[in-house]
Amino acid sequence: MREQLIISISGLRGIVGENLTERVAADYGRAFGTFLKSGGVGKRAGRLSVCIGRDSRGSGPMLASAVAEGLCGVGIDVIDVGLVPTPTVGVMVTHLDCAGGVIITASHNPIQYNGIKLLLGNAVAPPVDAAARIKQRFLDKRFDPVDSARRGRTILNEQADATHIKKVLAIVDKEAVSAKRFKVVLDSVNGAGGGIAKKLLAELGCRVSAINGEPTGLFAHTPEPIAENLTELCAAVKAERAEIGFAQDPDADRLAIVDEAGRYISEEYTLAMAAKHIFSKRTGKAATNLSTSRMIDDVARKAGCEVIRTPVGEANVAAAMLENNCVIGGEGNGGIIDLRVSPVRDSLVGIALVLQLMAETGMSVSEVVADIGGYYMTKTKFAADAGQARQILDRAKAAFADARLDTSDGCRFDFDDGWVHIRSSNTEPVMRAIVEAKDREIAQGYIDAVMKIRSELLG
Ligand code: MG
Repeated sequence: MREQLIISISGLRGIVGENLTERVAADYGRAFGTFLKSGGVGKRAGRLSVCIGRDSRGSGPMLASAVAEGLCGVGIDVIDVGLVPTPTVGVMVTHLDCAGGVIITASHNPIQYNGIKLLLGNAVAPPVDAAARIKQRFLDKRFDPVDSARRGRTILNEQADATHIKKVLAIVDKEAVSAKRFKVVLDSVNGAGGGIAKKLLAELGCRVSAINGEPTGLFAHTPEPIAENLTELCAAVKAERAEIGFAQDPDADRLAIVDEAGRYISEEYTLAMAAKHIFSKRTGKAATNLSTSRMIDDVARKAGCEVIRTPVGEANVAAAMLENNCVIGGEGNGGIIDLRVSPVRDSLVGIALVLQLMAETGMSVSEVVADIGGYYMTKTKFAADAGQARQILDRAKAAFADARLDTSDGCRFDFDDGWVHIRSSNTEPVMRAIVEAKDREIAQGYIDAVMKIRSELLG
């Protein structure tokens, strides 16, 4: 069966040449440009510009020029920052005072996929209602083309890497980190993050051994930065006797860490470690989604700080951070946000904060992990349509009646010894259950309870 184009809050994703073509990309550019001209979110005076960047996938240049053509055709100027990480586009949108941003990326999805991610002028993905308006314009082909005299122009900007690195360096103590001369192995999966991360690490005085560091878009391993895909990095950290290994995903908004013994530590630790450093310097709130580990609550509690929980989705976390002026935020998948750089998940921010934590505490990665402590987390998913999902949530509420309940995204049940989050996927008719507990046995007990509800209802 032919796969459908997926259009969600953060943009559009499809298979290049099948459902994601030059024509689709140009129309999506026209829809986004027309939306921005019509007032979008917040009216702007004068000509509007949109910053566009792309990850290293081979289809990137074709899709970027098609989106740019669509934008120019409706009278929007385009600033092309080229092959860059997703967070770099976020930085440039605000730095250049653009009305919006576009990133051509399918993040950690396989090579045949690509996508078009949208940012508004505040560098956050459009809120639900705005996203719905853009989608409807795209589907109805309601565009506002301009004549030749008023067409937008595309200009190239080669300052994106330097601008982004400068912003990241401004949030850490460069001298303190440099003095340690950390030995680092970096795995960029031949995505967009290798070049800029190497420059940042050089600025931070690190001795770097880079693997899969060429932005060929030919992913050296399955791109998601999770344990099973990072065996090469783990081996390299060990062989090189490095102090830390970093893994980026193809668009470099996520960061996973390998300790000095070559062990993959869960990607959940990236946010906990970044927060641990931030809370040693600043007081304020943190924000993360409901599916993220409790480790950040533990770290925040020690510092007397509060954690705000949001529905799943980067835009929800970013919006909560902006609204509450949070000092740190992100997601358990290794996406770290520091608003001083931009409201976009950023592997460079993660690298800088984790290295500074190590420099200041003098602790190795494994010592930091032991200090933070840990939980056992397990995830499962099963098919369930909207009606079935409602029934499952109702039964779960009855079964877990003694828990503290948050219903802002499915149901999250909090117990003293763990939590259960059950929610429907935004893109497919499945439910996900995420469980975290002090140990495996307790976690299994919660998963068994969820699966019992599922099988009683759906057989
Ligand atoms: Mg990504």
